Amino acid sequence: MTTNEIYRRLGVSEAVLAFGEGILAALQDRFAEIDRNAEINQAKVLAAMQKNRVNAANFAATTGYGYDDEGRDNLERVYADTFRTEAALVRPQITCGTHALAVALSANLLPGDELLAVSGKPYDTLEEVIGIRPSPCSLAEYGVTYRQVDLHDDGSFDFGGIKNAISEKTRLIHIQRSKGYCPRPTLSVSAIGEVIAACKSVKPDVIVMVDNCYGEFVETIEPSDLGADMIVGSLIKNPGGGLAPIGGYICGTQQCVDRCAYRLSAPGLGQEVGANLGLLPALYQGFFLAPNVVSGALKGAVFVAACYETLGFSVVPSAAEARHDIIQCVELGSEAGMLAFCKGIQAAAPVDSYATPVPAPMPGYDAPVIMAAGAFVQGSSIELSADGPVRPPYAVYYQGGLTWHHAKLGVLLSLQKMLDAGLIKLP
Ligand SMILES: *Cc1c(COP(=O)(O)O)cnc(C)c1O
Repeated sequence: MTTNEIYRRLGVSEAVLAFGEGILAALQDRFAEIDRNAEINQAKVLAAMQKNRVNAANFAATTGYGYDDEGRDNLERVYADTFRTEAALVRPQITCGTHALAVALSANLLPGDELLAVSGKPYDTLEEVIGIRPSPCSLAEYGVTYRQVDLHDDGSFDFGGIKNAISEKTRLIHIQRSKGYCPRPTLSVSAIGEVIAACKSVKPDVIVMVDNCYGEFVETIEPSDLGADMIVGSLIKNPGGGLAPIGGYICGTQQCVDRCAYRLSAPGLGQEVGANLGLLPALYQGFFLAPNVVSGALKGAVFVAACYETLGFSVVPSAAEARHDIIQCVELGSEAGMLAFCKGIQAAAPVDSYATPVPAPMPGYDAPVIMAAGAFVQGSSIELSADGPVRPPYAVYYQGGLTWHHAKLGVLLSLQKMLDAGLIKLP
């Protein structure tokens, strides 16, 4: 069977395929660079697994208290060595990224302390954790104050503003690497390193925490290589490699991670308890696969950006820009465009491909949200997905793809649905 026939069977016309192949031909240098990063990151993970003598006994299930769970403890050493930190907390008991961030913050901030966000407004779900939106059990309720310094309009750090905002009360600095669902540029690890150095020059003992969601393995260094005291993320994003069914991580200094463990379980118990419930094979294997999975997702992001940019749509980041996370924003300019795009992503899925995404109200959003996802793990956004609030500028956030070829099909089918709806003309 020819490639054309295979794609026709999946619903992609020859015109769309030819357009896609033309775009791809010009992306070979970008893809080679993505592969080089994946090679380095794969080596980092392998070296950490070998150093810690990962072995079959590490995959055994534990139940109950989970005392003496060597597999769990060794996975934490593997994470710590990969991200070059003193310690790590990597647990299925951390239910999601927001939970990991909430643990990291509440473990390291005490009443009277101030939390300072230096990359602008944090991710939506953190507003309730911090108490920016009043919420039971927020940090604000416990007497932790909050201050924020916005990024400059061009997305760079406001070094002057940050230095002025650091006071005696400032205990913890929050930096968010990924743009999340904001139309700002994602921060490079080196830019994060500069702001960490600036903060520590004003206050050497301040704790710097980086929300690393969607950033892991995109570059060859992580914020922990440049002085972050904690990096925090979700296992149903990049580092779970698509295989982790749940979990979060906090990697950082021994002191910070110890406190996180006491907060997650109980003072006195810390990392000693927490059964792995048989999930360790998926957590180890997912971490092993993660550098390659992230490379496939990145190729998809560059491909979707290049296709839609060529067709005249505005995309963030642009196809030629360096990548610092796996999120790609595409401004489709109309509700019909968002529907068609998401229909195509959904139609490419291995799960629920027959479903049609429709916009629906969501808590915390002022407009209906559309989501395309056909994932093995509910809500997993390292799997191919696209979503966004249906309101101007009608932007979809595209991310993930466990394999490059699946991401490619998703992009081609999005183009096909746009073409069928008369929303694009191929050159
Ligand atoms: C996804 C994400 C979170 C929250 O993670 P959940 O697993 O959805 O709770 C926090 N910050 C950023 C930047 C994210 O992308």
